[in-house]
Formats: sequence, C-alpha cells, structure tokens
Amino acid sequence: MENTQPYETLDPENWEDMRALAHRMVDDALTYLETVRERPVWQPIPGEVADRFKEQAPREPGGADAAYEEFVETILPYPMGTTHPRFWSWYMGNGTVLGALADFMAAITNSNLGGGNHAAILVEEQVVSWMKDMIGFPKDASGLLVSGGSMANFVGLTVARSAKAGFNVRELGMQAAPQQLTVYASTEVHSCNQKAVELLGIGSQHLRKIPVNEDYTINVEALKQAIAADRAAGYRPICIIGSAGTVNTGAIEDLNTLADICKEEDLWFHVDGAIGAVAVLAENIKPLLAGIERADSIALDLHKWMHIPFEAGCTIVRSDQAHRNAFSLTPEYLAHETRGLAAGHLWFNDYGLQLSRQFRALKVWMSIKEHGLDRFGRMIARNVEQARYFAGLVENDLTLELMAPVGMDIVCFRFNPGGLDTEQLNALNKEILMQLHEQGVAAPSYTTLQGRYCLRIAIANHRSRQEDFDLLAREVLRIGHEVVAQSTH
Ligand SMILES: *Cc1c(COP(=O)(O)O)cnc(C)c1O
Repeated sequence: MENTQPYETLDPENWEDMRALAHRMVDDALTYLETVRERPVWQPIPGEVADRFKEQAPREPGGADAAYEEFVETILPYPMGTTHPRFWSWYMGNGTVLGALADFMAAITNSNLGGGNHAAILVEEQVVSWMKDMIGFPKDASGLLVSGGSMANFVGLTVARSAKAGFNVRELGMQAAPQQLTVYASTEVHSCNQKAVELLGIGSQHLRKIPVNEDYTINVEALKQAIAADRAAGYRPICIIGSAGTVNTGAIEDLNTLADICKEEDLWFHVDGAIGAVAVLAENIKPLLAGIERADSIALDLHKWMHIPFEAGCTIVRSDQAHRNAFSLTPEYLAHETRGLAAGHLWFNDYGLQLSRQFRALKVWMSIKEHGLDRFGRMIARNVEQARYFAGLVENDLTLELMAPVGMDIVCFRFNPGGLDTEQLNALNKEILMQLHEQGVAAPSYTTLQGRYCLRIAIANHRSRQEDFDLLAREVLRIGHEVVAQSTH
C-alpha cells in the first residue's frame, strides 16, 4: 500500500500559508512599533488572560496561525513597555527595528557561535573588535558577547580570580586557597557583582563594600585603608571593581585613580560599564570616563544604552591569554581542525561558560552598520541633556525635590509638598509611582537613598522627547496633589 501521508518534519506543511503568516507578522510588528507612542506605557494583565497561561502543553498540532493569533490576543497587548518613549524604569534600552529583524534572521540561520568555521564567528569577532576600538583597548585584547551585564561581569571577575588567585584555582578549587581572596567595590556596586563573587566561591563577605562620597562614587581613602587592613590581616586582595555609571544614580567613579591603585597594589581592575561604557560615544560624557581604557576587563551592556534588543552584553579582556586561561577547555569531541567546518581560528567557547551560543552578534552588527556609532553617541548625549532638563524642572518647582546629583541620564527626585515626615513622603511617592504605572502615563522606577524613597528615571530611550519630560513633571504634581487631598479628607 502506498503511503500518501507527507513526510513528517517541523517544516510548514504549506510554505505559501507560512509565507502569508510571516508577512502578516512583519506588518504587525512594524505597525506596533510605529504606533507605540499612542498606547499606554504599561497595562495590567486581566485575570482571564493570565489564566490562559496555566493550560497544559498541547499533545497535537494547533497550527502556526492559531499560535500567532493567541500571541496577538494574550501577549502582544501586555508587554513590559520598554519600547515606549516614556519608559524609564530600572535601566533598559528600547530595542531597534533592524536589530529585531536581524534577530529573526539569526534564528533562521540557526548558527551556533560556540565555534567552527563559518561567517557568524567573523561577525562576532568584528563586533567585539568594534567594542575594543571604541573603548581604546589594544587590538590583541579578547572578548565575547554574552547575555547582558550580569554575565559580562561574571566573565570578567572569573578571569580576575584565575589571574590573581596565586594558585591554580581551576584545578584545585577554592578550598585550596592559601589565603582568603578579597574583592573591592563601593556600596553602590550592582548586585550582579556580588552574585558573581558568591558563585566564584569567594563569598559575599569578602566583597568589601566601601562607603561612597556625597556624589555616590567610591571613597578612595576608605578603599586604600580597607586594602591595607586586609593585607595586614592575611587576606589576599585580588580585584577592584569600578563602576562606570552606578545603577542608583549614574555616578561614574574616578577610573584613573582606581587604575593607579590597582597598578600599585597589583590588583585586577575590572570596570562594570553596563550603563556607562558605551557613553564613550557621547562627547558630553566621554571625558568623565577617562581611565576606562586602563581596565583589565570591562563589562558592557548593549541592550541598555545601545538599544540592541535583549539580550546583548559584552566582556572585553585586555589579556587574551588570561581570558583563555580562565575558560578554555577542549576535550577531543571539540578538538579544532585546520580544514572544514571544525576549523576556525576563534572558538568562543574558550572565552566563556557557554558552549552552544546564540548568533546575538548579528543584531549588533546590523544595527551599528545601519546607524553608525556616532548616531548612537548622539542618542546617548541627548538623553544626558534630557536628564539635565528634567532636573531643571524639578529644581524650579518648590514641591519637587532632587534627591541625588544627576549622574549621566539618571534623575532621582520626589514630590514633597512640605509638612510631611519621611515615612509619609515615602508612602506618598510610592503611591504616585503606582498611579503613573497604572494609568499608563509613564514608567519611572524607584530607589531608596538614605532611607528616602525616590522616584527615579533612567533615560536610556531614543524615542523620548522634551514634551515627555514636561508631561512627567505635570503628572507627578497632579497625582501628588490628588493623593494629598484625598488623604487629608
Ligand atoms: C543592569 C546592570 C547590570 C546587570 O546587567 P544585565 O544586563 O541586567 O544583566 C550590571 N551592572 C550595572 C551597573 C547595571 O546597571
């Protein structure tokens, strides 16, 4: 009997139908981004929609059209909101249209960037060299793309540990350490660095969190004293983490001074540049980053101020050898050949934890080719000006209060109509934030500085316009006065 069933694969049963769906998806995607300003920044997910995500996995095919239909109904209307011109929460980028399309093409080719001899490897190598050039790192420095800032810091700190531990930490493990290792950063250092120090077996109590100055940069005298005290007590200091833009307030540390201390003390100099490293492209920030090029390793985040769609981070390491020493491991089934597919001069799995790796370089490469680095620089510089503009609005209004010096593009502020204590002000400002989100007006986030709750905007947004900041100031005042009026009734 002849088998009339088509041969089963995961390909479309009908390519023409899939082509039609793909065209519709592209149309929907572009309309979605073109009209983003007309929609609320954020809206809550209705209960009945959330319930749909509790269903069991289907056993039988439901078809591509139905899957996409469900996405349009239940997912697309409830995004995080990062693409919106008034999204200023935590610290994120907007994405780029071509970056998203590139991600689609990367998935279409489904190349694995662990290694091998294929063009995608050259793309990542080129993107990493663009990052090295941008920072002013030597040509023979190494690097790789990673998921984001957290992984970028993890990679840098792993290399730091291997290079400075003073014993073979990969072979012997941390329990063999003749002396306890210590790492230094300010109290404002991003939490992912603590996670890295924990995962590296150093222990969070040995990440010495040094107090900060009024401007939230590390107190250099306290840092020097901590290193000296640790040495005297028999610890082995290995690394200083400098912040090129802290997450709370955007403070940039004096990187040259930190580089000098590392040199004197023979320490690894790692820079967490998740926020600020790419701001070397902006003329109004670049001078503040002087010394970043002296780091031993730098974590950059490309899905923040470079707006590459999530995920995209990058670590660059001055010494290729130190980098490989920390990660390279080549069993026979991964042996590199000199000809064929398994050839290739660069195997990225020698530089990080992952073996199979996404082709995330394509979206970076295409976005940079589309816009050129200078345009990214102009977008960054404009955000810095917008932060200063908004800080001006805050300072000119008697009921608004600036809570920290403006660091690059981050403004911390609060509504303070007078006559309220700290606790009441904290509750009031939290309520203002909730209403801004719930009304879909704007998405600032929050932080607490010295026990005081702050509204915080991190303006990594190429779509924000001046009127968006006028609107934010107006709406904070409107909601603030409303909440006060209601609570005094
Ligand atoms: C966001 C951030 C990180 C973490 O980066 P992810 O991309 O979110 O993993 C690290 N350091 C700083 C200063 C950050 O702002």
